[in-house]
Amino acid sequence: MKIDEFMETIKQIENFYGKEMIDEQKKIWYENLKNMSIERFRYLVANLYKTSKFMPKLADIFEINMTIKSIEKKVEVNQQHCDKCKDTGYIIYKQIIKNGDKDVIYDYGAICTCNRKKQYKGWEISDERYKSKYYTPLATELGL
Ligand SMILES: [Zn+2]
Repeated sequence: MKIDEFMETIKQIENFYGKEMIDEQKKIWYENLKNMSIERFRYLVANLYKTSKFMPKLADIFEINMTIKSIEKKVEVNQQHCDKCKDTGYIIYKQIIKNGDKDVIYDYGAICTCNRKKQYKGWEISDERYKSKYYTPLATELGL
Protein backbone atom coordinates (compact mmCIF):
# COMPACT_ATOMS: atom_id res chain seq x y z
CA MET A 1 0.00 0.00 0.00
CA LYS A 2 1.08 3.54 -0.60
CA ILE A 3 1.81 5.86 2.31
CA ASP A 4 -1.11 8.20 1.49
CA GLU A 5 -3.55 5.27 1.31
CA PHE A 6 -2.23 4.07 4.64
CA MET A 7 -2.53 7.53 6.23
CA GLU A 8 -6.11 7.87 4.99
CA THR A 9 -7.09 4.62 6.68
CA ILE A 10 -5.22 5.58 9.87
CA LYS A 11 -7.19 8.83 9.91
CA GLN A 12 -10.39 6.77 9.76
CA ILE A 13 -9.24 4.59 12.66
CA GLU A 14 -8.45 7.71 14.69
CA ASN A 15 -11.89 9.17 13.93
CA PHE A 16 -13.64 5.92 14.70
CA TYR A 17 -12.00 5.45 18.09
CA GLY A 18 -11.79 9.16 18.86
CA LYS A 19 -8.12 8.81 19.63
CA GLU A 20 -4.96 9.99 17.93
CA MET A 21 -2.05 7.80 17.07
CA ILE A 22 1.40 9.29 17.60
CA ASP A 23 3.66 9.76 14.56
CA GLU A 24 6.22 7.28 15.84
CA GLN A 25 3.52 4.62 16.03
CA LYS A 26 2.28 5.39 12.52
CA LYS A 27 5.84 4.96 11.24
CA ILE A 28 6.15 1.55 12.87
CA TRP A 29 2.74 0.47 11.58
CA TYR A 30 3.63 1.50 8.04
CA GLU A 31 7.01 -0.23 8.17
CA ASN A 32 5.26 -3.45 9.13
CA LEU A 33 2.24 -3.15 6.88
CA LYS A 34 3.53 -1.59 3.68
CA ASN A 35 3.76 -4.93 1.89
CA MET A 36 0.08 -5.61 2.54
CA SER A 37 -2.38 -4.46 -0.10
CA ILE A 38 -4.53 -1.47 0.84
CA GLU A 39 -7.64 -3.54 0.13
CA ARG A 40 -6.58 -6.15 2.64
CA PHE A 41 -5.68 -3.53 5.25
CA ARG A 42 -9.04 -1.76 4.86
CA TYR A 43 -10.80 -5.09 5.07
CA LEU A 44 -9.03 -6.03 8.32
CA VAL A 45 -9.70 -2.60 9.80
CA ALA A 46 -13.39 -2.83 8.84
CA ASN A 47 -13.54 -6.11 10.75
CA LEU A 48 -11.89 -4.53 13.77
CA TYR A 49 -14.43 -1.69 13.84
CA LYS A 50 -17.07 -4.31 14.47
CA THR A 51 -15.14 -6.49 16.88
CA SER A 52 -12.74 -4.26 18.80
CA LYS A 53 -14.01 -1.77 21.35
CA PHE A 54 -10.59 -0.24 21.77
CA MET A 55 -8.10 1.36 19.40
CA PRO A 56 -6.39 -1.64 17.76
CA LYS A 57 -2.70 -2.28 18.26
CA LEU A 58 -0.40 -3.44 15.48
CA ALA A 59 -0.55 -6.94 16.96
CA ASP A 60 -4.35 -6.89 16.57
CA ILE A 61 -4.00 -6.22 12.85
CA PHE A 62 -1.72 -9.23 12.43
CA GLU A 63 -3.88 -11.38 14.66
CA ILE A 64 -7.11 -10.71 12.81
CA ASN A 65 -5.22 -11.20 9.55
CA MET A 66 -4.20 -14.70 10.66
CA THR A 67 -7.67 -15.45 12.01
CA ILE A 68 -9.29 -14.48 8.74
CA LYS A 69 -6.62 -16.25 6.69
CA SER A 70 -7.38 -19.49 8.46
CA ILE A 71 -11.02 -19.36 7.35
CA GLU A 72 -10.29 -18.31 3.80
CA LYS A 73 -10.29 -20.95 1.15
CA LYS A 74 -7.22 -21.52 -0.93
CA VAL A 75 -7.48 -19.69 -4.22
CA GLU A 76 -8.32 -22.04 -7.08
CA VAL A 77 -5.41 -22.25 -9.50
CA ASN A 78 -7.61 -22.08 -12.57
CA GLN A 79 -9.37 -18.91 -11.43
CA GLN A 80 -9.99 -16.35 -14.16
CA HIS A 81 -8.76 -12.79 -13.81
CA CYS A 82 -11.50 -10.71 -12.19
CA ASP A 83 -11.83 -7.06 -13.18
CA LYS A 84 -14.45 -6.29 -10.56
CA CYS A 85 -12.19 -6.81 -7.57
CA LYS A 86 -8.78 -6.71 -9.33
CA ASP A 87 -8.24 -10.27 -8.08
CA THR A 88 -8.32 -9.25 -4.41
CA GLY A 89 -11.66 -10.99 -3.81
CA TYR A 90 -13.06 -7.87 -2.11
CA ILE A 91 -14.99 -4.87 -3.34
CA ILE A 92 -14.50 -1.80 -1.20
CA TYR A 93 -17.56 0.35 -0.63
CA LYS A 94 -18.30 3.41 1.47
CA GLN A 95 -20.71 3.51 4.33
CA ILE A 96 -21.74 6.44 6.48
CA ILE A 97 -21.57 5.71 10.19
CA LYS A 98 -22.82 7.98 12.95
CA ASN A 99 -19.98 8.82 15.29
CA GLY A 100 -21.45 10.92 18.05
CA ASP A 101 -23.17 13.74 16.24
CA LYS A 102 -21.14 13.60 13.06
CA ASP A 103 -21.38 11.36 10.03
CA VAL A 104 -18.13 9.70 9.06
CA ILE A 105 -17.53 7.80 5.84
CA TYR A 106 -15.78 4.46 6.24
CA ASP A 107 -14.48 1.89 3.80
CA TYR A 108 -15.93 -1.58 4.03
CA GLY A 109 -15.25 -4.74 2.09
CA ALA A 110 -17.80 -6.97 0.41
CA ILE A 111 -17.09 -10.39 -1.04
CA CYS A 112 -16.80 -10.34 -4.82
CA THR A 113 -18.91 -12.65 -6.98
CA CYS A 114 -15.76 -14.42 -8.22
CA ASN A 115 -15.65 -16.17 -4.83
CA ARG A 116 -11.91 -15.83 -4.37
CA LYS A 117 -12.45 -15.17 -0.71
CA LYS A 118 -14.65 -16.97 1.73
CA GLN A 119 -17.27 -14.92 3.53
CA TYR A 120 -16.24 -13.84 7.03
CA LYS A 121 -18.75 -14.94 9.63
CA GLY A 122 -18.02 -13.60 13.11
CA TRP A 123 -19.83 -16.43 14.86
CA GLU A 124 -17.61 -19.04 13.20
CA ILE A 125 -14.42 -17.56 14.67
CA SER A 126 -12.98 -19.84 17.32
CA ASP A 127 -11.10 -17.04 19.10
CA GLU A 128 -13.59 -15.70 21.66
CA ARG A 129 -12.22 -12.16 21.48
CA TYR A 130 -13.14 -11.84 17.83
CA LYS A 131 -16.45 -13.66 17.95
CA SER A 132 -19.27 -11.38 16.81
CA LYS A 133 -22.51 -11.22 14.90
CA TYR A 134 -20.67 -9.38 12.16
CA TYR A 135 -20.22 -10.93 8.74
CA THR A 136 -18.80 -9.71 5.47
CA PRO A 137 -21.64 -8.93 3.09
CA LEU A 138 -21.69 -10.38 -0.39
CA ALA A 139 -21.34 -7.88 -3.23
CA THR A 140 -24.56 -9.28 -4.73
CA GLU A 141 -26.39 -8.60 -1.47
CA LEU A 142 -25.47 -4.92 -1.75
CA GLY A 143 -25.98 -4.68 -5.49
CA LEU A 144 -22.31 -3.84 -6.11
ZN1 LIG B 1 -13.65 -10.70 -8.11
